[in-house]
Amino acid sequence: MDLQQEIARRRTFAIISHPDAGKTTLTEKLLLFGGAIHVAGAVKSNKIKKGATSDFMEIERQRGISVATSVMGFEYKDCKINILDTPGHEDFAEDTYRTLTAVDSVIIVVDGAKGVETQTRKLMEVCRMRKTPVMVFINKLDRPCKDPFDLLDEIEAELKIKVRPLAWPISTGPTFKGVYDLYADRLSLFFTEDKQRAEGVELDVKLDDPAIDQYIAPFTKHLRDDLELVEGVYPEFDLDSYRRGEVAPVFFGSALNNFGVRELLDCFIRIAPSPGVSHTEQRDIRPDEPKLTGFIFKIHANMDPNHRDRIAFLKICSGVFERNKSYLHVPSGKGMKFAAPTAFMAEKKSVIDEAFPGDIVGLHDTGNFKIGDTFTEGEKLRFTGIPSFSPELFRYIENADPMKFKQLAKGVDQLMDEGVAQLFTSKMNGRKIIGTVGALQFEVIEYRLEHEYGAKCRYEPIQIHKACWIESDNREQLEDFRKRKYNNMALDKRGREVFLADTSYALSLAMEKFPDIKFHFTSEF
Ligand code: GDP
Repeated sequence: MDLQQEIARRRTFAIISHPDAGKTTLTEKLLLFGGAIHVAGAVKSNKIKKGATSDFMEIERQRGISVATSVMGFEYKDCKINILDTPGHEDFAEDTYRTLTAVDSVIIVVDGAKGVETQTRKLMEVCRMRKTPVMVFINKLDRPCKDPFDLLDEIEAELKIKVRPLAWPISTGPTFKGVYDLYADRLSLFFTEDKQRAEGVELDVKLDDPAIDQYIAPFTKHLRDDLELVEGVYPEFDLDSYRRGEVAPVFFGSALNNFGVRELLDCFIRIAPSPGVSHTEQRDIRPDEPKLTGFIFKIHANMDPNHRDRIAFLKICSGVFERNKSYLHVPSGKGMKFAAPTAFMAEKKSVIDEAFPGDIVGLHDTGNFKIGDTFTEGEKLRFTGIPSFSPELFRYIENADPMKFKQLAKGVDQLMDEGVAQLFTSKMNGRKIIGTVGALQFEVIEYRLEHEYGAKCRYEPIQIHKACWIESDNREQLEDFRKRKYNNMALDKRGREVFLADTSYALSLAMEKFPDIKFHFTSEF
């Protein structure tokens, strides 16, 4: 086994989109190409349909599906590809943010008729923060879409990233003819008569070949004009700019019709980065270091309420992970062995003997692990770049059953470790405050506390607009701030100071009055 080679052939990425843009469909087509699944419909959407059935039933269904599809690994043309699934529902956005800490690149799916939508904008902010390389797939070209130039302008403006088309659509909707592949310099034709085809037909017809007319008339002149403009407006595709997260190559197609997907995948394996350097508080880690390092980015509770076991997802950052070898769990200082670590190959979960940088391993957890926990062969490291994100909704949480105080404390503790929500303790009165990204999380917590821990909680409203982590070199100002804002100060789970602003007005006023204090919207800065 050659570690270098294994690293070079790995591509670990996530597909993100606004719900309904076609993420599930695209994932499925990619898996079909990899031979990881054999029939369409094998990948279940992990969408929560609000109101369809009881929300709790939906939550359970969602948890079931997302364990199965958390990581989908497959082989394609000598590459080992790991797709990390992200929940579509916005209430689970924090889960998606965290998943983005474990990927080396991202594919964004945009609905060609709708353009850039809210959820995509938020997720792109996380990519930008981490300088994650992104590719864009503009989907649903078989339907009437916006003008491609307008779409590209919209992406640049809304997602704040430069774009470079590597394919170009020839009309859309009922008259959609196909795309011109600018990367391979050839025509890909779309056949509407036969929607179930595995792919379009690639023809070695160049743009200036008069024969092109017989395939794409009456759009020949239009295509030539468009491409002249493309070449004039957009600089040549530059691999390094893409890898630095500065420019996003853009593809057009129709995931449902499996059109443009192979072009996307073939380009993806050529240009998307393999696992690179990871950062810890102590030092940078190169993936080809012989010793294992990795961190937990996601924890999944068991569906069965009688077994509180969980699966922790470990991202391998360097070295080789081996079954039954003892590793240091840095936070507890304990050595741990795993007899049945699992890998995920599409629908199947299987026990593995070894895994390499870029891979995700599922570890059995009886409640000891937290998001961000580091594993090594002895070195005391702590990975950075796995922040908590400032929650948006807040409530006091109270014990509703005096006999079950311990159960509640344990349940809340474990659910927070899992990253379901964040817990803050008010400095003023010591009350516990739960902060979440989505409203559904409060229901999830209440339901799971009762069904998994036998505890009952009650929520009380609290007026908070935003939680910000604060720091300052100006001690005097910080001390003054603490005194004046005493009623709004809290500690997070790691004991760091957080300012709970009542309103956006109060926050901007505080920022203005205390210019030397930095207000952070993620827990890492
Ligand atoms: P997700 O929420 O992003 O995972 O979206 P899905 O993959 O579930 O797709 C949402 C809907 O759009 C489904 O009904 C798909 O069949 C449909 N869809 C996906 N891709 C295409 C496409 O290329 N063309 C058309 N017309 N519909 C599509």
